[in-house]
Amino acid sequence: MGGIGSGRHWHYGAKRTTEDSCPLDIRRLHRAGVLIAGQCFGWQWTVGGRPVANIQGRVEADRVVLVYRHRSGDEDSWQHVEQPVRLDHTPCTYGGTKHWWICPACGRRVAILYGPGKLFACRHCYGLAYASQREDDDDRALRRAEKIRRRLGWPAGIANPGGGKPKGMHWRTFERLTAVHDASAEASLAGVVKWLESMRRRQRGVCDGADGW
Ligand SMILES: [Zn+2]
Repeated sequence: MGGIGSGRHWHYGAKRTTEDSCPLDIRRLHRAGVLIAGQCFGWQWTVGGRPVANIQGRVEADRVVLVYRHRSGDEDSWQHVEQPVRLDHTPCTYGGTKHWWICPACGRRVAILYGPGKLFACRHCYGLAYASQREDDDDRALRRAEKIRRRLGWPAGIANPGGGKPKGMHWRTFERLTAVHDASAEASLAGVVKWLESMRRRQRGVCDGADGW
């Protein structure tokens, strides 16, 4: 099928979401003065002053090799990961240069990668990760709600308001269906909201304690 979240995006960690990721912003690395070929640097993220993750980086001519440890699954087995990430540059309108990561998963030019997991990747890729994760619970709830909307002749999309009772349908059936619809829509939306909140929390800078060493 090749739709969102299916197939080839999956090899790098189906269960991972932005929830447990820290942003690695190339602009901050640039400001910290570490984007110089031959340079090595360390970077760490803190929550409430306590370190939650750290990586090391080795800057080469047109790429940065990110070096870190990744714990696979629930087991206590740590893997040593060296992930090269290509860099790109574009000129700024008023002079100077903009630096970009080339996302290792999708090839997009982005300012922020999220990690450290099995792989650093951009928010689009983590968005796909979320979409695929949804297939289990939230997505089942969404499909259930949409199916009921079709049956009731309501406009598609759980964000749209519901409609009335179709002619010829018993009130009891209608009430049962709307109850299931509301619960399903709520469950599906709760998943989206939770994910969005975790994204916002990250962007507001819970992981904001990044420092060059
Ligand atoms: Zn990507």
